[in-house]
Amino acid sequence: MKDTFKHQGLRQQLVNVLKNKGIKDEAVLNAIGKIPRHLFMDSSFLDHAYQDKAFPIAADQTISQPYTVAFQSELLKIKRGDKILEIGTGSGYQTAVLCELGAKVWSIERQNELFKKTSKFLPKLGYRAKKLIFGDGYIGFKEEAPFDSIIVTAGAPYVPKSLLSQLKVGGKLVIPVGDDVQVMTMFIRTGPKEFAQEEFGDFRFVPLLGDKN
Ligand code: SAM
Repeated sequence: MKDTFKHQGLRQQLVNVLKNKGIKDEAVLNAIGKIPRHLFMDSSFLDHAYQDKAFPIAADQTISQPYTVAFQSELLKIKRGDKILEIGTGSGYQTAVLCELGAKVWSIERQNELFKKTSKFLPKLGYRAKKLIFGDGYIGFKEEAPFDSIIVTAGAPYVPKSLLSQLKVGGKLVIPVGDDVQVMTMFIRTGPKEFAQEEFGDFRFVPLLGDKN
C-alpha cells in the first residue's frame, strides 16, 4: 500500500479545490489532505482518486465525492471524543475522516462484501472505528445510543424515526433526503421531543436500501 509524493501533491490540489468550493473547516481539510483516498478505490480508478468525484466501489456502491464528505463532516462540527454513528460504511473513507477528526465511530453497512472488505482494510491504515456493524442503518444502533451525531451517507427516501430517537439532546442528524435527488438536511435535537431542521441544497447519493430492495 503505497502513498507517494505524487499522491500527496494531488491530495493538496484536491484540498485547494474543496477550499475554492467553500469548505472552511481546517480540521476537515487537514483530514482530507492526510488520508490516502487512492487506497480506498479499485486499482482501475487510481488515476481518478484525487478528482472531486464519486467512483464505483464493490457491490454496485460508490465512494462519495470528496466535496460531499467534506460538506457533511463540516456540518457535524465534530469535537474530539464525540460519539458518531455513520450509516453506510462503504469504502470506509468517510469513517477514516471521522476518525481523523478524533471521533469515536460506530458505522453500519448492509452489503456484506463491503462490510468484510472495509473491516479488514481500515485497521491496516491505522483507522480503528469503535465498531463496524453489518446490518440495516434504518434501525440505527440503539446499543450505543445516544450519539452526538449521526451521518447518513446514502440517499434516504424518508427520515428514519429510530435515528432521530438515537440523538443526544443537542445532537445532530445529517441526512440526504429524497429519491432521485436528495436535499442535504440537518436535524438538531433541541429537546426530548423537539427537533430543529435546516436544509443545505441538492446532492446525489446511491439509495439507502431497505429490507425489500
Ligand atoms: N461512506 C461511504 C464511503 O465513504 O465510501 C459512502 C458509501 S455509498 C455512497 C453508501 C453506502 O450505504 C453503500 O456502501 C451502501 O451499501 C450503504 N447502504 C445502503 N443502504 C444501507 C442501509 N440500509 N444500511 C446500511 N448501509 C446502507
